Amino acid sequence: MKYVLDVHVHTVSSGHAYSTVMDYVREAQLKGLEMIGLSDHGPEMPGASHIFHIGNQRVIPSIVDGIRVLKGVEANIMDINGRIDIHQRYLEELDFVIASIHDACVQPGTMVENTKMMIETMKNQPLVDIIGHAGNPKVEIDLKEFVLAAGEYNKIIEINNSSFTSISRKGSTSRCAEIARYAKEFGVKVIAGSDSHFHTTLGVLDTAQAMIEDAGITDDYVMNISVDQFLADLRARRK
Ligand SMILES: [Zn+2]
Ligand SMILES: [Zn+2]
Repeated sequence: MKYVLDVHVHTVSSGHAYSTVMDYVREAQLKGLEMIGLSDHGPEMPGASHIFHIGNQRVIPSIVDGIRVLKGVEANIMDINGRIDIHQRYLEELDFVIASIHDACVQPGTMVENTKMMIETMKNQPLVDIIGHAGNPKVEIDLKEFVLAAGEYNKIIEINNSSFTSISRKGSTSRCAEIARYAKEFGVKVIAGSDSHFHTTLGVLDTAQAMIEDAGITDDYVMNISVDQFLADLRARRK
């Protein structure tokens, strides 16, 4: 099954990424993707743009040169109560929201504390759609509890393809595979994301896809397969 969308994409505006929106649009055309999602870092990430960057994405057409472009953010989870660095009024204007723990923004704690941080985010942030790179071994969480809570609060779990090769999240592979197995067991939705910081990795989702397939997750629980299915899922969280 071909994955037709990738919504974990950082442009130059993230501060430590090196491609533009148009670089990603061209890359999507080259690779036959139907949709990309812009998910620049929230303003608390060192080097990230002012919140106005996230807030003004409406100036970008929803289809650019035949590629559907979703406007979103990768919000920073800021504390154990699941506070994120994007104000509600901005969240409401975005097409989708990823929330992730980054140790540049919040100090990871014990496994119990980190698990609570994840669960509180899902519970208290109805407009968060996706939890990013939860398999990061540097932020240890109880994976089973996390996946169960994602099911309870109707969140999509990202299987982050760049975690498998990145130095900063080394050791993610076995934890992501475990997440995928729990997602299958508990009927929780997943999405593969490239977490591109340069356009050449857009749509590079092969390891995550293999992991999702190995876990036996069926197509109706995989959000990369159909634009309509993913958009319907986002809409359901916003009604
Ligand atoms: Zn991230
Ligand atoms: Zn990212």
